[in-house]
Amino acid sequence: MKIEFTPAQVSAMQTALDKWGLAAQAGQTVEECAELIVALQKQFNRTPTPETIENIVDEMADVEMMLAQMRLAFGVDDEAFHERIESKFNKLNKYLSKEISNEREAVL
Ligand SMILES: [Mg+2]
Repeated sequence: MKIEFTPAQVSAMQTALDKWGLAAQAGQTVEECAELIVALQKQFNRTPTPETIENIVDEMADVEMMLAQMRLAFGVDDEAFHERIESKFNKLNKYLSKEISNEREAVL
């Protein structure tokens, strides 16, 4: 599950930011997110095929790269970002515990 970018990949992201600028790259991030949205919609609105799954994986890779580029552009510290994710998981786990508890009560 862990995605790590090599120093060469981070350097390429910085070069892209330097060449095209933050506004363009932010726009590209939006575009890649939209492409992932469409790929996911196709998976569930049409008959799934190996190609639709391949397209989802391809768009997820695009989105991962662009999100990493946005973290670089906005100077988001890795440790602070991981703490933010941990906080989100804590919220999710509390929500899940509550939901599961409610489901058990409904069955009893
Ligand atoms: Mg794409």
